[in-house]
Formats: sequence, structure tokens, C-alpha cells
Amino acid sequence: MKILLLGRDGQLGWELQRSLSVLGDVVAIGRDAATNPDGLCGDLLDLPGLADTVRRVGPRVIVNAAAYTAVDQAQTEPDTARAVNATAPALLAREARALGAWLVHYSTDYVFDGSGSAAWRETDATAPLNVYGQTKLEGEQQVVATCPQHLLLRTSWVYAARGANFAKTMLRLATQRDSFSVVDDQVGAPTAAELLADASAHMLRSALVEPALAGLYHCTAAGETSWHAYARFVVARARELGWSLQATPERIMPIPSRDYPTPATRPLNSRLDCNRMKKAFGLALPPWQTHVGRMLDNIRPATGR
Ligand code: NDP
Repeated sequence: MKILLLGRDGQLGWELQRSLSVLGDVVAIGRDAATNPDGLCGDLLDLPGLADTVRRVGPRVIVNAAAYTAVDQAQTEPDTARAVNATAPALLAREARALGAWLVHYSTDYVFDGSGSAAWRETDATAPLNVYGQTKLEGEQQVVATCPQHLLLRTSWVYAARGANFAKTMLRLATQRDSFSVVDDQVGAPTAAELLADASAHMLRSALVEPALAGLYHCTAAGETSWHAYARFVVARARELGWSLQATPERIMPIPSRDYPTPATRPLNSRLDCNRMKKAFGLALPPWQTHVGRMLDNIRPATGR
């Protein structure tokens, strides 16, 4: 079975190269054609090139891990964000349908407005607060409307040993300063790219034998935390692992989002209810702390311990 993976070099794409490899022959491509097998086009801004890629590879499954993920920058680059997050997925959905292929695509907690404190279900009304969330929602709608054989996975707060993310930013700040502030009123579940990639492979395997499983699923690690508590966890755990950090967890101070203005407004409540995924696929993802610990172990500087 041929699997075409787009966005090979992102946090999730990198992990999908590993997790999908047990399901078939993975053709993994990135944005730069010069680095791709047979010079295949993997640039989501090049629609004819992308269509040509799908036709040349002729996959049974397309997995799209590429996305415009610069949330603040999207506020001033809405056209590019929309082209990558909505227009390109629409083309992939059309090409997948024409081939009778599956499309696995990813979306975000940012499609919700963050109100209340209940975990969002797949059936809840969407109302994005920023351009990134709006363009990701448009991408979802295109995929659902165009390609019946889809797995659309909404996740949150993705991190990995490879790539830039919040946990690594906290480690850098804790190395440079003895105290800093982090918002404590946005709540969600940090989800490892590694875990999401593993769950994706399991779900895809099931869906290939039971096509009625196609659909939209929330897929995050279990539990919840605030960015502030997450930062404290990362710093505490890193210190246990022997990192030399100036800041202690207690010196990471909580602040409300209103005291940390950003170009894009973020939702306060990013909790996603994953029961639909659990029920359909028999998957129960571990608490978020498990993989944050693994990631820190993977990236820790040599300490001799
Ligand atoms: P990353 O930002 O780590 O990876 C995205 C990848 O897409 C990068 O390799 C990037 O390449 C690539 N990309 C961007 N523009 C293009 C383009 N025009 N053509 C080809 N490739 C392009 O994201 P994640 O792995 O974290 O995200 C995976 C999925 O999960 C995405 O759908 C995202 O929206 C979703 N998600 C992510 C969250 C997060 O916290 N990161 C939270 C919730 C959902 P380059 O590096 O060259 O720009």
C-alpha cells in the first residue's frame, strides 16, 4: 500500500514517517522539491504541482501533516494561511476522491471560541477567534464536503523533540532567567506529535478495514493543564533530569492572558473530549505528562547521568 505523506519535516510529519512505515510504503515529501523523491512537488502553495504529485504517486492514503501554523503571523498573512490550510486541503480532498483514496488531515482546538469549561465535542458549534483557527476550520469543511473517506483529527498544543514548541521555549527562558511569567487562564492538553502519529496509524489501520469509521475525531493526550502549570512541570522535570536551569518552578509566575497581549486571540478553554475516538477505535491516550517526560529525556543535554 502506498501512503503519500505531506509535511514530512514538521513536528507531526517527522513522527508520521515512523508510525506509518509499518502500514505500507511511505512516500514522504516536504516543501522543497529538490529534497523529495523524483523531485515531487510538496509545496501546498503550488496547486498544479500538488495535483501532479498525487497523480504520479497514486497513493491509497494521503496524509497531510503540512499546515501554516504560525498563529500570530497568520493575522497579517491571511491569504497565505488560507491557501495552505484550506485551499490546498480542498485540492487534496478532490484528488483523493478521484483516486478512491483516504485522506488523513489534522485540525485544531482553535476552531472553538474557548468559552465555558466543558470539553468540546465534535458536534459542538465552532467559532474561531483568529485567522489561523478560521482557515483551519475552512480546511476541515472542505475535506468533509469533498472526500468521504477521511480521517480528520483535531488536536491541541502539539510538541515534539524535533521542532520548535512551547516546552522548548520554557527551557530556553529557564536557562536565561531566574523568573518569568506564563499565562494561567488557557487550559488544554499538551499532545506529543509522537503520540498523535501513533494514534493516527492505529486509526487509519482500523478505518481501512472498516470504512464506516471515516469522520471527525478529537485526539489529544488525557488530562488538562494551563500553560503556566505546564511550564512549571517542564522546568521541574528538566531539573530532575540534571538540566542546569536558573529558574525554579516556583519562580515561574502566573499571569492572565489580558496581561500578555498577542496579535491573535487564543481560546481560554481548549479542552477536547476524545470519547468518540475512544469508542470508535478502542484507543485511550495516556496523560499528557507521560510524553512530556519522554520528550525531555530525549533532548536533555549530556549530564553523565
Ligand atoms: P509544524 O509547524 O511543526 O509543521 C508544519 C509543517 O508544514 C512544516 O514542516 C512546514 O514547513 C510545513 N508547511 C508550511 N507551509 C507549507 C507549504 N506551503 N508547503 C508545504 N509545507 C508547508 O506543525 P505541527 O506538526 O505541530 O502540526 C501538525 C498539524 O497539527 C497541523 O495541521 C496543525 O494545524 C495541527 N495542530 C498543531 C498544533 C500545534 O500546537 N503545533 C495544535 C493543534 C493542531 P516549514 O517548516 O518549511 O514552514
